Amino acid sequence: MSVIYDRVALIGLGLIAGSMAHAMRQNGLAGEIVGYARSAETRQTARDIGLCDVVYDDVTDAVKDTDLVVLAVPVGAMGQVAAEIAPFLKPGATVTDVGSVKQSVIEAVAPHIPDGVHFIPGHPLAGTEHSGPTSGFATLFRNRWWLLTPLPGSDELAVQRLTDLILAMGAKTDRMEPAHHDLVLAVTSHAPHLIAYTMVGVADHLRRVTDEEVIQYSAAGFRDFTRIAASDPTMWRDVFLHNKEATLDILGRFTEELFMLQRAIRMGDGQQLHDYFTRTRAIRRGII
Ligand code: NAD
Repeated sequence: MSVIYDRVALIGLGLIAGSMAHAMRQNGLAGEIVGYARSAETRQTARDIGLCDVVYDDVTDAVKDTDLVVLAVPVGAMGQVAAEIAPFLKPGATVTDVGSVKQSVIEAVAPHIPDGVHFIPGHPLAGTEHSGPTSGFATLFRNRWWLLTPLPGSDELAVQRLTDLILAMGAKTDRMEPAHHDLVLAVTSHAPHLIAYTMVGVADHLRRVTDEEVIQYSAAGFRDFTRIAASDPTMWRDVFLHNKEATLDILGRFTEELFMLQRAIRMGDGQQLHDYFTRTRAIRRGII
């Protein structure tokens, strides 16, 4: 494949940025890949494993003369990073982000982006429970959706060029309204993570079941269901703080369904449980 951006800067060198670095390098999509992370330890690890061509100690050096800047830091840090880099962005450059929440990131980042620089928010629907500079891999985005939520009046050529990069990394892309994105993701990702965290919390509180028993007899339900509870605490704290309304809406609905099932179990209403599980099985089987 051919080079799509001459110089790409990855800000925040964790799972997503690391996977982008591997995918871009493997497919020859960037002339030069540079990076920056806040912690000196992360920067050193990134250098040791050769994640980027250059890892800078100063974020402003990373974005100077750069064609594509990718903000891959926790959602709560996006605005502050955008403010720091804004004066050094090259005219005509594109800034994108990979944050799991879109409305609050747009509100935090867009005001800092100078005229003549294209801000195109995005979110790859791909991840693992691992984090940090060594956790990325080239195939993370393969066959996964990468949603873009362009602002009204966005430069269509800039959006198309970013789309080309995303497709060349193996992902599928679609465009969505930011508020709708946040509601969809509250159902498909944010609420499930919160519920997984609480399942582990419940097991921890249940003193009649020891931690050893939970580990040793971890049945498929607990093991499968709670894998994502090992995800990065900072990232997920920020997701809930910044997608508050949609997450609370979905959690309210979830609580209503739980109460309904709780009542059916208490009343011995096997028909209601069977009907419910039949309907949910059909929906789940439709998801590949
Ligand atoms: P990660 O924890 O693996 O990496 C985050 C990186 O950001 C680390 O290198 C950290 O040192 C750096 N960082 C933190 N604060 C910073 C700051 N103020 N300035 C510069 N660097 C800073 O996280 P990740 O999983 O790669 O997530 C990054 C972004 O991608 C988040 O916004 C997250 O919501 C989003 N995202 C994550 C997933 C997932 O499943 N992990 C999926 C899609 C999108």
